[in-house]
Amino acid sequence: MFAFAYSRPADLAEALATLAASEEAKPLAGGQTLIPTLKQRLASPSDLVDLSRLAALRGIALADDALTIGAMTRHVEVATSPLVAAHLPALAALAGMIGDPAVRNRGTLGGSVANNDPSADYPAVCLALDAVIVTDRREVPAGDFFTGLFETALEPGELVTAVRFPLGGEGIYEKYPNPASRYAMAGVFVWRGGEEVRVAVTGASQGGVFRWAEAEAALVAEFSPSALDGLRPEADDMIADIHGSGAYRAQLVAVMAKRAVAGLATAR
Ligand SMILES: Cc1cc2nc3c(=O)[nH]c(=O)nc-3n(C[C@H](O)[C@H](O)[C@H](O)COP(=O)(O)OP(=O)(O)OC[C@H]3O[C@@H](n4cnc5c(N)ncnc54)[C@H](O)[C@@H]3O)c2cc1C
Repeated sequence: MFAFAYSRPADLAEALATLAASEEAKPLAGGQTLIPTLKQRLASPSDLVDLSRLAALRGIALADDALTIGAMTRHVEVATSPLVAAHLPALAALAGMIGDPAVRNRGTLGGSVANNDPSADYPAVCLALDAVIVTDRREVPAGDFFTGLFETALEPGELVTAVRFPLGGEGIYEKYPNPASRYAMAGVFVWRGGEEVRVAVTGASQGGVFRWAEAEAALVAEFSPSALDGLRPEADDMIADIHGSGAYRAQLVAVMAKRAVAGLATAR
């Protein structure tokens, strides 16, 4: 690790001021990605601003037909929240599939969306549910927030404070996890409300999370697994690495999407 200054502010204003004071300052949430990155010397922030004392960034609230979840809410809290289970069971299930118990006990919603790992789970549910990413200075629709591999619309010093998930419709997440890390090799969240269908895919694309428009059109015409017969994303656009080729991941996406559609059909 390189040397850095560490602070643990007690309120949001102090955290934002510390972040604003140096271009090289970084917020620290659960540390599940950032700490290993520092250990490998892949980042050298001047300051680490630990968000763990900021009560304003925690908690799960139901209001105005939406669930608002604070950025510092840990995956285990989302997975076990009675409020989430009652109103967005697919979100609770998704959070319960993240990593292992140690990761779920430290990792946070805000850290995950801010990091936008191409294999992370939360970006898929955010896109599929048309969630809003709330920051200290604005509200950004998920469709505009995730801009590319590990890239988001966040500006320097800007903090995710919460994510607002609108209620309504029904959704389901199907994930094929990497057997070692549990990150998604392919994860597909299918949401259906009225005449609209959204299909968000994570884990597979070189560009990070994306809406699979072709599948959405097919499912609007006929909401059944067979409507996806023969469809798969372009293999050349998929991640190819030691865990699987682009063609393998494209096939996984197709299979996860069909499973999700079948699951929704059975649930009704
Ligand atoms: C072994 C292992 C397995 C994992 N498996 C999965 C998996 O299956 N699915 C999955 O989705 N994830 C997985 N993860 C990642 C995990 O979910 C982490 O929670 C996630 O990487 C980042 O969250 P964090 O709270 O730890 O953030 P940190 O590591 O503290 O921060 C990550 C990045 O986000 C920035 N940041 C943090 N909070 C904010 C904020 N509020 N506003 C702005 N920027 C912020 C930090 O500066 C840093 O750049 C895994 C991680 C590990 C180590």
